[in-house]
Amino acid sequence: MSSPESNVDVLIVGAGPAGMMMATWMARCGIKTRIVDKRGTKVFPHRSKKQNQWLTKQIFNGQADGLQCRTLEIFDSFGFADRAWLEANHMVEICFWNPDASGRIVRSGRIPDTIPGISRFQQVVLNQGRIERFFLDMIEKESDIRVERGTLPTALHLDESKVEDSDAYPITVTLRHLSEEEATPTQAATSTNGVTVQDGLFRSNLAPDDTAEILRAAAAKARGEGLDAKADTTEVVHAKYMLGADGAHSWVRRELGFALEGESTDYIWGVLDIVPITDFPDIRSRCAIHSAESGSVMVIPRENKLVRLYIQVTTTEKLDDGSAGSRVDRSRITPDVILKSAQKILAPYTLTYRTLDWWTAYQIGQRVGTHFSASERIFLAGDAVHTHSPKAGQGMNVSMQDTFNLGWKIASVIKGTAGRSILKSYEVERSSIAHDLIKFDHKFSRLFSGRPAKDVMDEEGISLDEFKEAFSKGNMFASGIAVNYGPSVIVAKPLESNGVNGSNGSNGVNRANGANGIDASKKVHSTQDLATGIKVGMRMPSVKVLNQSDARPWHFQERLTSNGTWRVAIFAGDLSRTDRKTALATLGVALAAPTSFLRRFTPKGGRYDSVIEVLTVHAGHRADLDLFDFPEVLRPHDEIDGWDYNKIFVDDVSYHEGHGEAYKNYGIDAAKGAVVVIRPDQYVSYVGSIADYGSLDRFFSGFMIPQQ
Ligand code: FAD
Repeated sequence: MSSPESNVDVLIVGAGPAGMMMATWMARCGIKTRIVDKRGTKVFPHRSKKQNQWLTKQIFNGQADGLQCRTLEIFDSFGFADRAWLEANHMVEICFWNPDASGRIVRSGRIPDTIPGISRFQQVVLNQGRIERFFLDMIEKESDIRVERGTLPTALHLDESKVEDSDAYPITVTLRHLSEEEATPTQAATSTNGVTVQDGLFRSNLAPDDTAEILRAAAAKARGEGLDAKADTTEVVHAKYMLGADGAHSWVRRELGFALEGESTDYIWGVLDIVPITDFPDIRSRCAIHSAESGSVMVIPRENKLVRLYIQVTTTEKLDDGSAGSRVDRSRITPDVILKSAQKILAPYTLTYRTLDWWTAYQIGQRVGTHFSASERIFLAGDAVHTHSPKAGQGMNVSMQDTFNLGWKIASVIKGTAGRSILKSYEVERSSIAHDLIKFDHKFSRLFSGRPAKDVMDEEGISLDEFKEAFSKGNMFASGIAVNYGPSVIVAKPLESNGVNGSNGSNGVNRANGANGIDASKKVHSTQDLATGIKVGMRMPSVKVLNQSDARPWHFQERLTSNGTWRVAIFAGDLSRTDRKTALATLGVALAAPTSFLRRFTPKGGRYDSVIEVLTVHAGHRADLDLFDFPEVLRPHDEIDGWDYNKIFVDDVSYHEGHGEAYKNYGIDAAKGAVVVIRPDQYVSYVGSIADYGSLDRFFSGFMIPQQ
């Protein structure tokens, strides 16, 4: 019997954080999408000791837990940061503990966990299962996309002859459906104090890939050896675009013949999520503790009184049972082994627990994919293209940020508003982030794994000052705020940092113009001097401004919701000055013209802000002007909803929340003003003069497709 066939715009393989972020974009942008995951329903039966009854619990408690401030800004742009913010534990402080002269651990310093002032959010900690839940709820609310569990691809073909044809479905994938039982991972269960606890080893990098095993089991069922008649049915899907977000063992990556390159180390780390019973005073702060002789531990305070301990269980030394450790012998790593290591490091403080929530073990390895896409049709993201240690809390954040970068680009190409040239920027932008991440992780994990220096002459030991400095610097990178994308058709760097070969000033990755899609003859350059606090290539920083119409204060970033729309932010300057008023009126005329980029690139019948939204922020006193003093194109209207009151803002003092001082913070002179182009993912594309309409038009013409 032949398999049923169907067409879909986007096929996502893997419903982890990277796949969920992609599906969220597709839901928001109304793109016909399917998302499949080989795993079944994520619930796990366990017996409650208190109530003596069987309950179900999310299978993926444990795993990643740290949400960096940039990730929270992204969640906020989709409307669910508040859920994470409320439920999570807030990590405010880091304490350093080191041995004193007598070898006893003492607190040697404290720093804030998130660098003050870099974001309106700070790092919080919440388990990955909850985060995946927020995505599922958002996707369900916005679309009819549903995660199809127990479904995995078994064959993949890309027709290279059709990749440049925008109407074609060049990807053909065979999908196989499993039964619920086949799709449920076998998890080791550890019994602690009468309660059965799952471990995370099946998802750890120490676990072998089980795809082949699942397929064998499915085939066996289909031969009539099982009870589930639904098992082992197949279907053929033709897709325009595909994402492999299927984790470190990525099937999609292997099918494409791409490799992960890098190295692994001998360090094995154990992770325990417990409710600790301890006299260690800093257990509710994030701590980096180096003992004199017994290794190091990282303490991560979590929600619901939980604490995560990351402990190096060194395999080159003898394990507690006296046997020598072998490199990947995870069978000898148990919660007890990990606890005993922690007790030694923390001595003379005591540590025990009655509640163990989750545990796992992993081996540090740093690898990056050789390619992030095949012909800009099939893309890889997340752990499928970069793996590293989890201690710096990066994997989930960077994985979600990969697809946050990619989703809107694919959606605009499918909708026909942008050309395929913008897709090249995905690999250019994200592979350099992955390389930076690996460098960071390499340094961070070695510093953490090393023993503390005994004195200034101890060259092999890690000095406290070196560790603290690396930690502080690392915090900026880890926050996600430092990301600075290089030049491309969608990032018009200023001339001085925009080398002939398109080199990225910030991270030194050199890319030929062809790779970043820039046609040299159409290059547009930013004038960074007009807004020194808004860096081209970085995310738009946030300060408070007031709505001109109702005086409500808003963080400017809150107005940059993730719906696939580009923004042109006009910082009109001080409109009590005649020159500023005239400049704004002139720009208004150009924008309102039937030939303007606003009109040309908006589909016929589409809302005025469906492709490019214009936001205006003026300096001065809100009370001196009314909405109707602004050119109509800046405060548009439609027949049903009337005037749009959410386009004009002012940098003025609010009644209840102080003064955001937007112009000062953004480095904009109110006597000159500036225009800023912001991508749908909040990264700054261009900064220029209000008088330079031509550069704005040329910028959008570089990659957008005329609609009318
Ligand atoms: P995954 O989360 O691995 O998701 C891949 C999905 O694809 C899975 O659902 C899987 O079932 C599915 N899949 C796999 N193969 C197939 C197939 N052939 N067909 C269909 N579906 C398939 N990161 C942080 O940012 N912060 C932290 O604090 C942090 N702590 C961590 C702690 C630990 C102990 C560990 C192990 C990891 C931690 N990480 C952390 C890393 C983080 O968990 C990963 O980087 C993140 O989950 C990667 O997301 P992903 O979507 O790329 O892949």
